[in-house]
Amino acid sequence: MGTGTSTADAVVIGSGAFGASTAYHLAKRGFKVTLVDQHALGSQTSPRAAGLTSKADTLPTMARLRHEACEAFERFESEMGRTVDFHRSGSLRAAYTDAAVERVRIAQETARACGIDARGIDAAEAERLAPHFKPGAARSILHVPSDGWVDPAKVAIGFATRAGELGVRLLPFTPVQGLLSEGGRATGVMTPRGEIRAPVVVDAAGGWTARVAAGAGITLPLIPVRHQLFITEPIAGVEPLQPIVRLVEASVYVRYEQGGLLFGGYEDAPRVLGREGLPPGFQIAALELDLGVLRALVNEVAEHFPALRDAKIAVHRGGAPTMTPDGRPIVGRVPGLEGLYVASGCCVGGLSLSPAAGRALADLIVDGKSDPDLAPISVERFADGYRDPAALEAACVAQYARRYTH
Ligand SMILES: Cc1cc2nc3c(=O)[nH]c(=O)nc-3n(C[C@H](O)[C@H](O)[C@H](O)COP(=O)(O)OP(=O)(O)OC[C@H]3O[C@@H](n4cnc5c(N)ncnc54)[C@H](O)[C@@H]3O)c2cc1C
Repeated sequence: MGTGTSTADAVVIGSGAFGASTAYHLAKRGFKVTLVDQHALGSQTSPRAAGLTSKADTLPTMARLRHEACEAFERFESEMGRTVDFHRSGSLRAAYTDAAVERVRIAQETARACGIDARGIDAAEAERLAPHFKPGAARSILHVPSDGWVDPAKVAIGFATRAGELGVRLLPFTPVQGLLSEGGRATGVMTPRGEIRAPVVVDAAGGWTARVAAGAGITLPLIPVRHQLFITEPIAGVEPLQPIVRLVEASVYVRYEQGGLLFGGYEDAPRVLGREGLPPGFQIAALELDLGVLRALVNEVAEHFPALRDAKIAVHRGGAPTMTPDGRPIVGRVPGLEGLYVASGCCVGGLSLSPAAGRALADLIVDGKSDPDLAPISVERFADGYRDPAALEAACVAQYARRYTH
């Protein structure tokens, strides 16, 4: 591509799971879309995720979107012409204390209200389903048979590739340097290759989302934090369709991967990767990792996953998901600049939400409304709160810490 001004109905900044899904769904609705990324398509945090889906959520809007997203993964291959390797393994969520039991109960009720099969099972049944899991004194174990996991490396690139086939202009290695606006309306973006003029701009820039919006004087209450996982060498008896196991209090997750176990979790004090967002041009591949964080979490839960004690680690990876002050994503219109939308604040659950978040945001952009209504996850819910960076950071870190207990 040369330099110069081009036009589109919408320009989407960021080709991670959120941006690529939004671009695809906008194209399906007949929009002429340009999808720009500063790096290779779908190459940053999205491919480094664990790929877990979770239909159970305590907020009804989220439960509906998560349900839709999970179904979309099941249909991905027929709709998109490429697979995300969805494994319908089911999931287990184990709670050991009153507070966690109550939280699991609410998630179960919300799931059931959305027509999702979510049932309590006993420790023996849990161990039969996932023999590497020793539930011990678990007081409540929720089984959601229709949950599963996908290959995270195939989601964003799958959406982006299909979007390209539908006519979306794909511009990798094209950093957005500024948002264009006139009279309170978004009019496009500035890149080193020239301006892309569009009446709709979607900020789906992952760990850079707040930085992109700040260029137009807009504060978005989200910050990137480091989150990590490891995958062990193969372990005898571990199978792909054994359910994902989540322990609420410890806030760790375990599933099958590459013949071994994939383990990740939420420490108390995550590394904050910049209150203003990641530096421009930063590559997630350069993120400094710390295996000590995961080893400490393994020590806490070793009695429940004895195979993890001495397992050799084959893969260790991490990324920069964005946290928000209430632990919910931010998807919808951005007040202060008409035509600007955001899809971010993934709270470490954006990959699995992306099919539905992109669909709903595209509907909001095209029709002016969406089903479900995105108001509960729009940025407007924060009103003017969290303008103080220290308060924002503290609230986001609190949401990350022991994530499953919130
Ligand atoms: C270890 C780990 C495990 C996880 N496990 C799960 C899980 O099990 N389930 C789940 O749902 N989620 C999980 N997540 C979270 C998931 O990875 C994120 O929610 C998801 O990837 C967010 O996608 P995104 O599109 O916001 O970000 P990204 O994938 O980072 O995409 C943002 C894109 O924006 C581009 N960009 C930024 N600034 C600019 C600019 N100025 N100009 C142009 N382009 C720009 C970037 O280059 C990048 O490609 C996990 C994350 C990690 C790190």
